[in-house]
Amino acid sequence: MKSLAVLHASQLVTLAGPKRPRVGAEMCELAIIRDGGMLIHDGKIEIVGPSDQIGKNASGVETIDAGGRVVLPGFVDAHTHLVFAGNRLDDFERRIRGETYVQIARGGGGIWSTVEKTRAASDLDLFAKAEKHLQWFLRCGTTTVEAKSGYGLTVDDELKILRVIRQLNNDRPLEIVPTFLGAHAVPRQMNADEYIDLVIHEMLPRVAAEKLAEFCDVFCERGYFDVEQSRGVLTAASKRGLRLRLHADQLTNSGGAQLAAELKATTADHLEKTDEQGIAAMKSAGVQPVLLPGSVYALGLLDYPCARAMIEADLAVVIATDFNPGSSPTASMPMILSLACTQMKMSPAEGITAVTINAAYSLNRGDKIGSLEKGKLANFSVFDCADYRELAYWFGIPQVHSVYVRGEWVAGDRRGDRHYN
Ligand SMILES: [Zn+2]
Repeated sequence: MKSLAVLHASQLVTLAGPKRPRVGAEMCELAIIRDGGMLIHDGKIEIVGPSDQIGKNASGVETIDAGGRVVLPGFVDAHTHLVFAGNRLDDFERRIRGETYVQIARGGGGIWSTVEKTRAASDLDLFAKAEKHLQWFLRCGTTTVEAKSGYGLTVDDELKILRVIRQLNNDRPLEIVPTFLGAHAVPRQMNADEYIDLVIHEMLPRVAAEKLAEFCDVFCERGYFDVEQSRGVLTAASKRGLRLRLHADQLTNSGGAQLAAELKATTADHLEKTDEQGIAAMKSAGVQPVLLPGSVYALGLLDYPCARAMIEADLAVVIATDFNPGSSPTASMPMILSLACTQMKMSPAEGITAVTINAAYSLNRGDKIGSLEKGKLANFSVFDCADYRELAYWFGIPQVHSVYVRGEWVAGDRRGDRHYN
């Protein structure tokens, strides 16, 4: 039973508030404590308050002096494709030269090239690569990630990816929330209906029996899986006790947001092409939008999702990296915050809410993480700046000083600043 005190944060950004995701003007309320501190016991937060108050309760306790830096809850990344082999550097250059998605796919690139490399990789190989990705997340201040399967597209390969996620979750400090995305693309040897059949009747029963995923996701998009096929997979997953997420309206407005609402999905993700009807449907069903500006940016596109309209409609907006080799090769939440502010016109405070407490609720973990409050896990990051707005402002500059999970140091600088009161 170890205790730890954190003192002298210029801003302890607590996100304390109602026990639910934040909407509308609440997204700007960060509940900041100036010269703030925390007392941590056995990996959980015990007291949060001004440093002088915490100091009085911390005699003999190991103490971290935040030295006038900003302290935030660990970022919660609610949408990643963590486990894959290889990269898409050739696609990257082709896109720069002006080739289209279809031309790249015909030239041997696209998602299929990642599927082939991931199938060929051993468990150990995938584990080592994903471990490296996790290290990137930690170094950028993220302490929880959702991770999807979806680069296997056979029963064995999808299970292989989900088992790697389970192993990483057991071995590494960063918590991973697993999502089954068997319906990510149609494999070459099959048509979409045949493959959907395999997903529903062979993959889902195995995933559920081995408890390999908490959520099920589908890529609902023209040329991938239509609304009816997506509904089939998600309804079957729901019957097996999985919660639902959905890749919706990324390239075309195909009714994905409405489907998410109809099925009471936890989230609808992407939403670049969602219209007012889609927003209204999500609002009436309590679906959380997960916006992914990194993929718009990295594809060199201009149509960012309408974050302002969603906030004004009182949706509990989440933003995430969409970390993947094809369209969003970044694990950096500060970069995503910058894009949210500059391209989607979210305020820095709204951005912080979207990557902490709202993201935690979207992963069914709002009672454990996402804010610095009594009883929650002591997952937090110290940033080398004095004002939280600097995270989104100084873009591309690493500002993470140190990162802690359950009160234990996991990344960054641990020299100095430590003493016993
Ligand atoms: Zn995705």
